[in-house]
Amino acid sequence: MILTGIGYDTHRLVEGRRLVLGGVEIPHTLGLLGHSDADVLSHAIADALLGTIAAGDIGIHFPNTDASIEGISSLKILSRTVEILAASHAKPVHIDATLIAERPKISPHLPAIRATLAKAMGLPLERVSVKATTNEKMGFLGREEGISAMAVATVEQLPDPTFYPNI
Ligand code: MG
Repeated sequence: MILTGIGYDTHRLVEGRRLVLGGVEIPHTLGLLGHSDADVLSHAIADALLGTIAAGDIGIHFPNTDASIEGISSLKILSRTVEILAASHAKPVHIDATLIAERPKISPHLPAIRATLAKAMGLPLERVSVKATTNEKMGFLGREEGISAMAVATVEQLPDPTFYPNI
């Protein structure tokens, strides 16, 4: 069975924080604010993965009231999400994601981001697509107040025979 899920996330850009996108630290004067490392791309992908099996969102599985989550690498959230899917006999097969950031320029970092994400999810590199665009200086993204990410995940799940009692 092939299932798809969609994910979206946005975090505020502030001074004095690291900028981590897809598990890769990117040199910049600002970083993303959040309980974990605020890796907006990994969060959008984790939400897309959870959506494939209707398992809620990362806020449910990794609540920001949980002190053990504070400051952790979101790659850990991603690999734990893959384990949640595995418990439902589901396995990621493809990710497509888009980052929306006015600055810094993301494209030089895309090869490292794709490789890091692929490793965290146990996927071949060619099954992990990450793209980047600006918001043409419009809105909060255009004013560099934050960075957003959206993602679509495709997973394969072993069929549950009880879904098809007549087959
Ligand atoms: Mg988030």
